[in-house]
Amino acid sequence: MNDIILTGDRPTGKLHIGHYFGSLKNRVKLQNEYETYIEVADIQALTDNFSNPEKVKNNVEQIVMDQLAVGIDPEKSTIFLQSMIPEIAELTVFYSNLVTIARLQRNPTVKTEISQKKELFGESVTYGFLGYPISQAADITAFNANIIPVGEDQLPLIEQCREIVRKFNSIYGETLREPQAYIGENKRIKGLDGNEKMGKSLGNAIYLSDPEEEITKKVMNALTDPARIKKDDYGNPDICMVSYYHKLFSNSEVEEICAECRAGKRGCVVCKKQLIKNIVKELLPIQEKRRYYEENPKLVKEILMEGTKKAQKEAANTIKKVKESMKLDYFLV
Ligand code: ATP
Ligand code: MG
Repeated sequence: MNDIILTGDRPTGKLHIGHYFGSLKNRVKLQNEYETYIEVADIQALTDNFSNPEKVKNNVEQIVMDQLAVGIDPEKSTIFLQSMIPEIAELTVFYSNLVTIARLQRNPTVKTEISQKKELFGESVTYGFLGYPISQAADITAFNANIIPVGEDQLPLIEQCREIVRKFNSIYGETLREPQAYIGENKRIKGLDGNEKMGKSLGNAIYLSDPEEEITKKVMNALTDPARIKKDDYGNPDICMVSYYHKLFSNSEVEEICAECRAGKRGCVVCKKQLIKNIVKELLPIQEKRRYYEENPKLVKEILMEGTKKAQKEAANTIKKVKESMKLDYFLV
């Protein structure tokens, strides 16, 4: 059986440098080796944005443009829209019998995210949000995917999907394929505020499409060593977000930057300006490519439509097999 990749993003905002180092670079490389599906997870985005459907809709094409801008090739990768694949919703219902509420509540990622969304959910979370790991298992299995490139935050969700697959197969017979997470070198990129994760919904991100002024503003306000007040104070780059991002953007210069900071020989302003220059340089070709798609919105729509048609065919094959296994194949000939 072919190796198949399924990965995706929630259209809750544009993609950021956490996505770039954490998953997009990997996707661009892996699409040359494996059949690749990239889902724009609009239904999952609604689980915590249900009262703001415009936000989700408006970000669908933004996400597709970001993918294309970093080098996702629609000839190699199938980019599709989750809400246009009703089989995913059907599978979600079938799998929901195989998961207990306690197990969902114990999922560490779901737990963290619920605590971050107190304002939205108050004391009681919705059924839809609590159950999104089930819908994610449906996303993966609908395409028979076995390799799932993700950031570290997704590991508990992949584990939950594996449990669902094993339980399904043990009850209904060998039908679904058990997936593996694929974690790249940068499994979790921290936020500008020092948060363990840069996230679209956390307000701590540098977006791939940010103009230079915006990057400048964000880097200038990034968290640095709070004990360092004057340039000749000895700095601690280990607790400074600017040096953290230098490690991603300024490869050959990093050692010198950190040594000078520790010795009190490099001021924060100089250090930040150098980072801004390197980020702008790395993002320039991405932003140029993005501009091409921004000027050709019809092309972006076509790519998404074509991808969605291909994905629909695959999901239809899966649901047929699943229904047969579950004895739900009443009128099929
Ligand atoms: P949201 O805050 O709305 O959940 P997000 O920034 O977490 O948005 P997602 O669309 O949920 O982005 O995630 C898409 C993919 O990018 C997932 O595989 C996720 O693990 C990965 N990812 C997201 N943020 C990071 C990060 N800071 N570092 C590494 N990988 C990340
Ligand atoms: Mg997320």
